[in-house]
Parts: sequence; structure tokens; C-alpha cells
Amino acid sequence: MTKTKVALMGIGLLLLALILLVLLNPRAEFVLGGGLVNLGIRLQDRLSSFDFVHDESITPEQIWEELERQNELSGGIRGLFPRTPRHPVVAVLACMDGRIDVSELVGDTRHYYYVVRTAGSVLSPAEQDMLELAVLNGVKVIVLTTHTDCAAEAAAADPELRAKFPALISLMDERVKRVEEFMARPTIRDAIAGGNLMIKHARIDTTTDRLVVEIRHHDAH
Ligand SMILES: [Zn+2]
Repeated sequence: MTKTKVALMGIGLLLLALILLVLLNPRAEFVLGGGLVNLGIRLQDRLSSFDFVHDESITPEQIWEELERQNELSGGIRGLFPRTPRHPVVAVLACMDGRIDVSELVGDTRHYYYVVRTAGSVLSPAEQDMLELAVLNGVKVIVLTTHTDCAAEAAAADPELRAKFPALISLMDERVKRVEEFMARPTIRDAIAGGNLMIKHARIDTTTDRLVVEIRHHDAH
């Protein structure tokens, strides 16, 4: 037997073992899927010609053309992997901080989660409406997160920045009140009382993406 054949057989056996492992263990499949997603992102990260920041002199028109090209390519890939048509049952509120990747918090959030992102995880009435609509569409768990090393929290504690960003700061000052306001909405209150909705508060460790779940008085379940 040639070396090539031995190598091919080795790869074949490895693939078979991997497939068996995945078929027998959904957790292994979940981890493998997460690994493959990251592998794919790392592969794309290396392609500087697809990176909008690669050239300082790039014009808005060129950026739009590039975006359209990438959308066409991505849409083609997406067509190969059809998704579930159902609405998600989980909604997550997270800060817009770029270091937080919600998919790395819990797995693939692209089609299994509603994700609302705002600076400082504040819930203005518009976001409250979005989450209430999500509940009407079948959401059963809402995770309201904040995170460590949050720039919006730091701004709220800095007199100079408080003066510079009054709209954000007033929302930050009312963050807890806005959550209470959301919980008091009839749809939300009734869904919780009926055991059809759970609201969890969690703080994300920004460096590790770990969720620390906080106990609040209205965590009825
Ligand atoms: Zn933040």
C-alpha cells in the first residue's frame, strides 16, 4: 500500500470516528459546529481584500459596491444552508460593545435568538416594544444582560462624559426603572404570571463571555 493510500485511509477513519461521535452525542455536534463556525470566520478574517478597512482611501461608493458583492456571495452560501422558518423562543438584550459576540455566549444566535443590542443595554420604549413583539411571536425566555468594563457605565460615572452624552446618560440612569416598566406591561406581566415567560438578568464577563446570572425578586421560576 502506498503512503497516499494509508494517509487517505487514516483521514477516512478519522472522519468516520468524528461522524459517529457527532451522531451519538448532540453535545459533541454542538461543540464541533461552534468550532467550524469559528474556523470559517478565521478563514474570512485573513482575506484583506474583503476587509473594508484595508484601504484608507476607499470611497463610500466603493464600499457600497464591495458590500453588494459580498452580499451576493454570502447569499449564495446561505442558500446552501436553509434555516428553520420558526420564530425564536429566546430574546437577548446585550450592550453594543464590539468585544461581546452573542453567538459565542450561547451558540448560534443568528436564527435561534432575537438579539437586541443597545449602548449600555438600555431599554428605551422602542426596545421594550421590540421585546414585547418578540413575546407575542413566541419568546419564552428573555435574558437582560449587562457586562463588565462597559463604556456606557463608565460614561455614566464620569461628570465630563455625562455632560457630553445627555440622552444616553439619562437612559443609563433609568436602566433599572425601564426594566421595571417593561415588566409591568400587561402582556409581559400576564405571560410571567401564567408561567409562559421567564426573565433573567445576567452580567457578562467581557473577557471570557461567561454569563453570571443575577437573582432578582421577579425571577419567579
Ligand atoms: Zn457596554
